[in-house]
Amino acid sequence: METVEKLTTVLRNHGMKITPQRLMIFKVLEKNTSHPSAEEVYNKVKKIYPAVSFTTIYKTLETLRDIGEIKELIIDEDRKHYDPNIDIHHHYICSHCKKILDIFEDFSPHVKLPDSLKSDYTVTGFQISFQGVCKECA
Ligand SMILES: [Zn+2]
Ligand SMILES: [Zn+2]
Repeated sequence: METVEKLTTVLRNHGMKITPQRLMIFKVLEKNTSHPSAEEVYNKVKKIYPAVSFTTIYKTLETLRDIGEIKELIIDEDRKHYDPNIDIHHHYICSHCKKILDIFEDFSPHVKLPDSLKSDYTVTGFQISFQGVCKECA
């Protein structure tokens, strides 16, 4: 994700009005490595702007995802999580506390498309999600 300042310009260029609530959403996401859900972003913004609606949060997150500023993670079956780090990386989720860890390891030497599919499909990327139980929950 771009810095809050750059993002503000990017979104203005996309015709989005930058409200104090939206700015707060960007601030919550900037350098955030906890992979928050929409609910978690909402709870943080609500502390400063109690009148903010969940719809505003959700729609802003969807816009950020659509323009490629954040990634949506489908790693937790209960809810979507958002990642402002759009560099290639992988994740580990604790199935108990739902904590999501970043994994910056290059798995590409080990991940290959089966030969039977190679002639019809080109791979442009992949993401690995590990599931397990973290040390605190074990
Ligand atoms: Zn855990
Ligand atoms: Zn991540």
